[in-house]
Amino acid sequence: MLQFKLVLLGDSSVGKSSIVHRFVKDSFDEFRESTIGAAFLSQTVKLEKHQDVTIKFEIWDTAGQERYKSLAPMYYRNANAALVVYDVTQPDSLVKAQSWVEELKHKVGDQDLVICLVGNKLDLCETDASARQVDVEDAQAYSKEQKLLFHEVSAKTGAGVGQIFQEIGEHVYERK
Ligand code: GDP
Repeated sequence: MLQFKLVLLGDSSVGKSSIVHRFVKDSFDEFRESTIGAAFLSQTVKLEKHQDVTIKFEIWDTAGQERYKSLAPMYYRNANAALVVYDVTQPDSLVKAQSWVEELKHKVGDQDLVICLVGNKLDLCETDASARQVDVEDAQAYSKEQKLLFHEVSAKTGAGVGQIFQEIGEHVYERK
């Protein structure tokens, strides 16, 4: 089976581990302990657009804390895909995400890396529209300009999470 390395980057508490947990276990745990350093998981995806193709993601979930930042290159080196996550209720987390995108483009080069910008915690805006602090149009425009894939999701409800991995799967498979 074809395997692809995927790394998660972003500020701490934006929900990186929760997105991985939703994808791998299809569940959400409000009280899971935060990741220290990095965690490794793998999960297969059956590609909807390519009949009979199942690929495997090796997922590296990195800790967003500043003290682990120097370790990040070890994780994104040789990666096929990166999920750069921000929290739609925290504008600073988008600024951080953008700095990760720049670092990836600078250090890895975007020809070899599929980058997906992900705005998480969409459920918070559904219960209270004023919770949204990052406009979807702004994030979309930035993604288009930087040629990134883009999704808004909720690890809590699971909305959009499957689509991220389907779309990334298609892209890495088509580039292989
Ligand atoms: P990480 O540090 O980026 O890995 O973030 P975590 O996955 O540990 O999540 C940080 C906090 O945000 C936890 O309290 C989660 O329960 C919460 N969280 C994560 N995803 C969501 C989401 O989609 N919606 C809501 N409401 N909370 C979330």
